[in-house]
Amino acid sequence: MPTETIDTLIVGGGQAGIALSEHLGRRKIPHLILEKNRIAEAWRSGRWDSLVANGPAWHDRFPNMEFRDFHPDDFVPKDAVADYLENYARMVGAPIRTGVEVRSAEPWLGRGGFHVETSEGAFHARRLVAATGAFQIPVIPPVLPEEAGVAQIHSYHYRNPEQLAPGAVLVVGGGSSGAQIADELNRAGRAVYLSIGPHERPPRRYRERDFVWWLGVLGLWDMAAPRPGTEHVTIAVSGAYGGQTMDFRRLAAEGVTLLGMTDRFEGGRLLFRDDLRDNIARGDESYLKLLDQADAYVERTGIALPEEPEARRPWPDPESLVHPIRALDLAGRGVRTVIWATGFRQDYSWIRADAFDERGAPLHSRGVSVVPDLYFLGLPWQSRRGSSFIWGVWHDAKYIADQIAIQNAYLAYPGSAGAGAGGQTRSVAE
Ligand SMILES: Cc1cc2nc3c(=O)[nH]c(=O)nc-3n(C[C@H](O)[C@H](O)[C@H](O)COP(=O)(O)OP(=O)(O)OC[C@H]3O[C@@H](n4cnc5c(N)ncnc54)[C@H](O)[C@@H]3O)c2cc1C
Repeated sequence: MPTETIDTLIVGGGQAGIALSEHLGRRKIPHLILEKNRIAEAWRSGRWDSLVANGPAWHDRFPNMEFRDFHPDDFVPKDAVADYLENYARMVGAPIRTGVEVRSAEPWLGRGGFHVETSEGAFHARRLVAATGAFQIPVIPPVLPEEAGVAQIHSYHYRNPEQLAPGAVLVVGGGSSGAQIADELNRAGRAVYLSIGPHERPPRRYRERDFVWWLGVLGLWDMAAPRPGTEHVTIAVSGAYGGQTMDFRRLAAEGVTLLGMTDRFEGGRLLFRDDLRDNIARGDESYLKLLDQADAYVERTGIALPEEPEARRPWPDPESLVHPIRALDLAGRGVRTVIWATGFRQDYSWIRADAFDERGAPLHSRGVSVVPDLYFLGLPWQSRRGSSFIWGVWHDAKYIADQIAIQNAYLAYPGSAGAGAGGQTRSVAE
């Protein structure tokens, strides 16, 4: 099979790849997206049935298209998000080949760019963009041995309560996934245990504004990426049931038993750290801090938003917080399933280049790799807090497209375009 040549090859047809295609298209940079499954596959098959977007429709979208058939304040169901992304790809004329898996990519010595092997032949790509998603490989910590006698699944494989064996469920993880799944199972009548680590939990709405609005006007979505190695704290939010503040005391009042961080399995019992009160306190702190910042904003700007003192009235401490359980006899409590909502890792094993640190994380600056002609897109905190969200990745994509355009402009200087794929270039200033 002959080798196809292309200026920019984007790997991954999710929101990141589509956003980049829009920006490259505007700059007339020839490019192609290769997607191993379908467009926006993660939103179709990589989420549980009832998942809705975490932010309202007016906010969680690309700037150039609104959600049809939804009120701006609605939280859009996952399949409608996938449809939206598919329609968006059509609108911007994104050149996507679906069902094509990229198997390897390595710098092409003497020719420049990358030699890329796919399930449908080889490419010479002058530039390569890995837009393969940050939430790729589900991570289950090695805590529970088989002899514990419970089914274990990752949140990635959770679909609905009916899928699980009858009985109680332990959900591990107090981020958005863990909290939402625990809430859903509890509403379905299951006995639910929820193991919570350090987290932040903003109010869903305060003084008649959704928290996404508050984070916006306070400049917090634009918060710069923390230094490498800085602790990542998960955030517990939910658009489910019309959107509610993820308050763990409320969940407990509705029947969920709260637990500290899951630690280890010993003597037939699962043990938890003595950190539940600290973790809840830290969540409360983040909640109250945002209320304070919002109040200060109202005071400073004089914007007419009604006061909401009841937002500061906490739910009572539940028994599981007053006297935290440190050990659980899973069988004795009727726990038949453990759901690990413990996050994901990335897989860049297909990129054969010295582009990663010892943990396998990309070495980059705002998505521009330390390896020439290689870019990453869709990384959490790629440039700022909003980076992994639909609307945030659009801005990171714009930056990457700018960097590619700048490089191409240099190669447009007569006699410079030795690294020869594509060849169409535009001016740096565009
Ligand atoms: C449970 C959950 C809920 C979320 N909810 C929200 C939300 O409400 N709002 C929000 O803004 N964000 C949300 N996110 C975060 C983020 O927006 C999504 O994860 C989003 O899917 C990321 O888009 P992406 O394009 O970066 O990656 P993905 O959507 O994962 O797209 C990457 C694509 O690359 C393809 N691919 C991977 N490897 C290869 C290869 N070797 N060759 C070819 N193709 C390949 C995959 O098939 C995939 O389609 C959520 C994330 C999770 C896990």
